[in-house]
Amino acid sequence: MTSPLLAVILGRQGSGKGTQSELIAANYGCIHLSTGDVLRAAVAEGTELGIQAQAVMESGSLVGDDIMVGIVADRLAAADIATNGVLLDGFPRTSEQADGLETILKNNNLAMTVALNVDVPVDVVTQRMLERGRSDDTAEAIQKRLELYDSQTAPLLDWFGARGLLETVDGVGSVNEVFARVSSAIDAHR
Ligand code: AMP
Repeated sequence: MTSPLLAVILGRQGSGKGTQSELIAANYGCIHLSTGDVLRAAVAEGTELGIQAQAVMESGSLVGDDIMVGIVADRLAAADIATNGVLLDGFPRTSEQADGLETILKNNNLAMTVALNVDVPVDVVTQRMLERGRSDDTAEAIQKRLELYDSQTAPLLDWFGARGLLETVDGVGSVNEVFARVSSAIDAHR
């Protein structure tokens, strides 16, 4: 039996990363941990975290690293992660979060399989996001998120690359075409 998948998926907002994440979770049997989904659920439930996160999310800024690392540390400590594996979607987003992740994995005796980078050009993702019209997708928030991706998250590609974990996948094409590329990138690391 192959060991459980422990993967990270990176890509600009609107890259199709969420759709690919669902396909990966379904095909590889791993848990899909989307930090954006965790925060949106907290907002919907009106928890303390949700109250803190809502304005930050609407403006397109990033929620604090300590909060985010804490959320992921709690989830990755559960026994089902070692059994089923996990796909981290939307985390890490900063180098502090990447360092936090390294510590969390070490503490739980887990090893990363692969970091997938779903690559879609800025003009293509901007158009996709304006079309999908989510309530937090104002033109200003979209631009802010894309800028933060380039300044805070894109440097993580080198971080994963230096560890021999990075696989960049062309994210332009149909959902099935992109998933075929994604799964061969995953399989190359197992
Ligand atoms: P997403 O669904 O991943 O695009 O996340 C939606 C929003 O949640 C982001 O624009 C951020 O405000 C916040 N968020 C999600 N994940 C993180 C993270 N790892 N670090 C900081 N903020 C995050």
